[in-house]
Amino acid sequence: MAQETIFSKIIRQEIPADIVFQDDKVTAFRDISPQAPTHVLIIPNKLIPTVNDIQEEDEAVLGHMMVVAAKIAKQEGIDESGYRLIMNCNKDAGQEVFHLHMHLLGGKNLGRLIG
Ligand code: IMP
Repeated sequence: MAQETIFSKIIRQEIPADIVFQDDKVTAFRDISPQAPTHVLIIPNKLIPTVNDIQEEDEAVLGHMMVVAAKIAKQEGIDESGYRLIMNCNKDAGQEVFHLHMHLLGGKNLGRLIG
């Protein structure tokens, strides 16, 4: 059984968070330590600790996370200027919170990451 993290409390609105979107599948809220003018975390309401734990039955929620990311980017006015979506998995990627999350970063030139 996976350990709950602080993100479960945010989903249940037991602790304060700047939630920008929530439905029955996902919750999106502003990162407490933003690395860009827009820095939103999009998470499944279901506790999936890492990308390694994604099951076939989670395909719909993972797809929904992408749809929600695009909606939030539009809402934030960064859809045309551009943004980056990042998912860190485990130690070498620097994952700190073991509840799957997608970072949505934008609102400034983020530079090239690869290549
Ligand atoms: P990771 O390094 O990909 O695991 O990213 C975890 C992110 O969660 C970091 O960017 C943190 O700033 C963010 N974070 C941790 N706790 C909270 C919180 O309580 N509210 C909002 N963001 C948080």
